[in-house]
Amino acid sequence: MYKKFWFDANRVKRTYIQLWLGWIPIGMVAYYLLYLVFQSEPRYSMFIVLIAWGYFWRKQGVKFKGLKCPKCDSLLFENSTIMFTKLKCKSCGLTDEHT
Ligand SMILES: [Zn+2]
Repeated sequence: MYKKFWFDANRVKRTYIQLWLGWIPIGMVAYYLLYLVFQSEPRYSMFIVLIAWGYFWRKQGVKFKGLKCPKCDSLLFENSTIMFTKLKCKSCGLTDEHT
């Protein structure tokens, strides 16, 4: 019954974490490409890359934190520690084992 919801919720969570950790490779690749383009150490252009990345990360974060429990319709997550734990509704205890 909630299978699709948890599938989507886990996907949103995974994307959020991947974007977060992804800054390291994204930042390195961007730095390298900008270096190739401008033939000098990128400074301001790196800020633009960082801001663009931050925008997408934040957007995904808002989507993730806005997830509502399909059973009791309250917000699922209170804080970002949920990134490191299993997805579970804080008010009714619904987890992805209840499918
Ligand atoms: Zn709930």
